[in-house]
Amino acid sequence: MESLIMLVVFVVGLGLMALNARNIKRKWESWPTVDEYMNKYNPSKGRGISCCKCGSHQIWESGFEKDGSDMRIHFCKQCKTYLYRTSR
Ligand SMILES: [Zn+2]
Repeated sequence: MESLIMLVVFVVGLGLMALNARNIKRKWESWPTVDEYMNKYNPSKGRGISCCKCGSHQIWESGFEKDGSDMRIHFCKQCKTYLYRTSR
């Protein structure tokens, strides 16, 4: 009986983890890709990507939701606006 409970807890836990991962991915995918961002905000190529809010060229990158994530999000260091996503 106890092992059955453990199994149920385990399966439910796995389900929640998968659900959570899917939600994070969906949230990440709501940001534009770098190409979409460039087309929308930086149509003049060659000058580098800049922030669509403050115009800063200081754009930093981090993992989305957690540091080591392959889902990367790029943000303006100056005004802390999230700008676009890339994956690695
Ligand atoms: Zn900015």
